[in-house]
Formats: sequence, C-alpha cells, structure tokens
Amino acid sequence: MFQKDLTRRQFVGLLSLATTLSSCQQPLRSDSDANFQPKIAEADGRDIIVIGAGVAGLVAARSLINAGHRVKILEARDRIGGRIFPHRVGPATVDLGAAWIHGDRGNPMVKYAIANGLNYRKNQVQPDLLIDNGKAISDRELFQAWSLVMDFAQDLEKIEKTVGSQAAISEAIDQFLSSRQPEISTERRARFIAEVLWSATSAPVDQLSLAGSIAEIKAGFDGGDHIFLEGYQGLIRLLWKGLDVVLNASVKRIKSSKSSVEVTAENNLIFEGSHVIVTVPLGVLKGNKISFEPSLPAAKQSAIERLGFGSLEKVILVYNNRFWQTDFTNSVANFEGLGGDRAFPIFVDMTDASGKPTLVALYSGAFAETIQGDRPEKNLQETIIAKCLESLHRALGENIPNPIATYATSWRHDPYTLGSYSYRAIGSSDADIEALAEPVNGRLLFAGEATSLEHHSTVHGAFLTGLREAQRIDSRAAIPKPDFELS
Ligand SMILES: Cc1cc2nc3c(=O)[nH]c(=O)nc-3n(C[C@H](O)[C@H](O)[C@H](O)COP(=O)(O)OP(=O)(O)OC[C@H]3O[C@@H](n4cnc5c(N)ncnc54)[C@H](O)[C@@H]3O)c2cc1C
Repeated sequence: MFQKDLTRRQFVGLLSLATTLSSCQQPLRSDSDANFQPKIAEADGRDIIVIGAGVAGLVAARSLINAGHRVKILEARDRIGGRIFPHRVGPATVDLGAAWIHGDRGNPMVKYAIANGLNYRKNQVQPDLLIDNGKAISDRELFQAWSLVMDFAQDLEKIEKTVGSQAAISEAIDQFLSSRQPEISTERRARFIAEVLWSATSAPVDQLSLAGSIAEIKAGFDGGDHIFLEGYQGLIRLLWKGLDVVLNASVKRIKSSKSSVEVTAENNLIFEGSHVIVTVPLGVLKGNKISFEPSLPAAKQSAIERLGFGSLEKVILVYNNRFWQTDFTNSVANFEGLGGDRAFPIFVDMTDASGKPTLVALYSGAFAETIQGDRPEKNLQETIIAKCLESLHRALGENIPNPIATYATSWRHDPYTLGSYSYRAIGSSDADIEALAEPVNGRLLFAGEATSLEHHSTVHGAFLTGLREAQRIDSRAAIPKPDFELS
C-alpha cells in the first residue's frame, strides 16, 4: 500500500526515503577511511582483548583469529549476540532485537552470510490496513497524506536552507506542513507518518538532527528489507564458532599505556593483552559504566555526550491463530493520537519468521521513552503489554482473542545496552562519529554500530566496524573464508 519507493526501513525501520542512492558500487572501506591513520602498535603474540560479544566483537575476533592472533572476548551477559537476541515467547521464537537486513545490495554482511550457507528473503513492512481513530481509512486518504510525506522527504535539503542545519527534524516537519497548509485530517495523518518514520531512528523527533537525517538518507544499502530464514541467530552461529568467549565478565575498568592494556572485569578478574577493542553500546559509554585510565580524550568524551542513543522497543503477542488475516496480512498502522500520547503505532505480522501466529508491536522515540520511563518501574512488562493490547483492541475491535504468550522488551533499561541504537542528535556531526571510532594510545580501539559513519544503527554497520578495527591491528585480518573478498 505504501509506495514502493520506500525501500530501506519502510514504515518502521526506515529512512531510505531517497531511493536512487545506492552505495552498492562502493568497495568495502572503513567508515572513516579519510582519517584512517593506523598509528597502531603491532600485535606481538599477546592476547587481543575484545569487549562485547555482539556482531562487532565477534567479527573483530574472528577476523583477527583468521590472521593468526590470539583473541579473548569478554562479555557481560550470560549469552552472546548482544542486540541480536532470539527469544522463546510461548511456542514462538522471536527476534527481540534486530530482525531485518536493511538493504541487501552490495551489503558485505549478506555476501558473507550467503557464502557460508545462510538464506534470506524479502520481508518488507507495508501496512495493508490503516486505522484512524478506530476506523479504517481509504487508500485515497492515505495516499494524500503519504504523498505529502514523500514531498517532505524530497524537500529536506531545501527546508534545511530555511530552518538551518542545526534544526531538529520536528521543526522541518512543522515548517513544511505550514507551507503546504493541507486539510486538517491530511495534515494530522502526514504528521503521524513522518513522526513514526523518523522516530524509527530511535530518536524523539525533536532531538533528531535535520542535517544528520539528510546524511542518513544518502547512506545505507539499497534493495529493501529482508530477513534471514533462521533469523539473525544464523549469523551469530557462523561468527561464533570456536571463539574464546568469557561470559558473565562485565568490564569495569580499562587501563591502556604505550606498552600494554589491562582490563578489569567483575569479581576483579584481570586480563592483560596487547590491544583492546571496545564494542560496548554507546548507551553503556554514555552511562560511564566503564572507567578508562587515562581518561578518554576530550573529543571522544564530547562525541559520546553529543551523539544520540534512543529507544525502539517491541511487544510480542503470540496467538493460537492469525485471527487478523481477514483484515490485514502484512501489518496494521494505528493512526491514533500523536507525540507522547500516541497509541502503539504499528503491529506487524511476523508469523513467517517466528513459526507461530505472531504480531509484533514496534514503538520508538518519544513515545517509547514515555512508556518505558526513566527508571524500570515495577511490573513494567505487564503495564506495557496491557497498554499495547488496549491499543490493538481499539484498532481491531473488542472481540479479538487474547494472546497465548506475550513479551515486552526494555532495551532502554537493559544495563548492557541502556537504549536501542545510536542516532544523529541535534548538535552532533560526522566528526563525532569519527571521534568515537578513533583509537587511543595505539592500543585502545573502538567498534560497534555507533562508530559507523554510513551504517550506524544497523547490524551490518556493526559488522563492518568489527572488521575495520581488526584491520587496523592487522591488515590481513579477514572473516572466513580466508580467501573471501568482501568488496
Ligand atoms: C529493538 C531493536 C531492533 C533492532 N532492529 C534492527 C534491525 O531490524 N536491523 C538492523 O540492522 N539493526 C537493528 N537493530 C540494531 C542492531 O541490533 C545493532 O546495531 C547491532 O546488533 C549492534 O551490534 P554491536 O556489536 O555494535 O553491539 P551489541 O550487539 O550491543 O554488542 C555489544 C556487546 O557488549 C556487551 N557489553 C555491554 N557492556 C559490557 C561490559 N561492561 N563488559 C562486557 N561486555 C559488555 C553487551 O552485552 C553486548 O553483547 C535493532 C536494535 C534493537 C535494540
């Protein structure tokens, strides 16, 4: 129902509103190649320590091992995968974190996965039922609102000239809608679509930088959204095989000097090595959960402060049957309310991925922050699930059946993430992402999605940063197969 033009994250995860730009032809390169000055100490046979067993950490470790180095991964959780987390919800298995591949064309992660036997297929979120205050709206009504949003996306650079590059995307939306003066109902729906689209970056729309949004539209891979047949877990399984991972090892302190690194984890466990690659989420760095000795350089500290790390959360609802199939088969968008009081905006049928009749509600930005609160309140799961079901009932009617199993994520309060993924906050710039990625002392290196200039907030972004940092230490580092060409 939504225009085919929207390829990358579509209604929920999206931002490839500009359609023609593709980075497929670009060779694989570091996100900060321009400043790629590996004044890095040579590996000398001592352990290279990787902090975090998410995609970035696993790729870094695997590619260094392939180049003949000794690597130890320290992971705070009792599992690997980080923000990739398939979880049993009643009879279904659902990805509580990343689920979609955003853009397969020219995507090295996809190429690696396929070469190693994984399969994937198209899975595009395209709402085929739209509810506005309890009533389904027509395609024509939707088209009016949607066309406005498309025009807005295409006009971003023009609007930037009026509102300034430091403006938030919400100011740009206001400016655009007031210049067009559409009918009230169309304006309301267009605002809703734009807010849901842009808050899928995890940011509240009044915190998301307009300049950053423009840059983001130009980055990324083309080809639309897909899922791996066995979920992202298949990728983790490939990367993980045979790696030395110490679980339940929450790192508290990292000392680095010109000659070595020393990492202290929970229970005073001390690990020494030649280099350390830190892949913990930006939320963990923002929360000062790790102390660095000496302190991190001022530019890196400012970058950590300025870059945004927001919320995108999921509620999983598993049913006995797909009772919704007569109304929609892909997803339902619920145009009810706006901003902080918005109802859960979208429910996606993920039955094919989970193996059982499953709806996944996605919500993000300011709405997610409001629902989740600043602290994890008692019974937060139950409260969120109840609100989400109220929303679904208002959209689909009171007589729908009850789910047989439910789960509500809370990445915002997860101590090893403290949010969902990074975004370009107002006041931040490309230079902040580069500063975040910059090595310190020749021995302390940084990877993870937030350090990716072109692909932050994605799994493939994390993947590429792991490889980037491994190659800073040893240019021969590569992921299998050893002769595998990523570019
Ligand atoms: C709800 C949600 C939905 C998403 N959907 C998508 C999607 O559909 N497609 C997509 O491409 N991306 C998606 N993402 C983003 C994607 O999951 C991430 O960009 C990617 O997985 C990040 O990988 P990473 O290795 O950088 O970080 P992580 O996977 O977070 O790995 C970092 C690791 O560090 C560990 N750690 C933290 N603190 C410490 C410590 N002190 N000591 C030791 N270890 C520590 C963590 O436990 C974690 O295992 C989603 C994210 C969320 C939360």
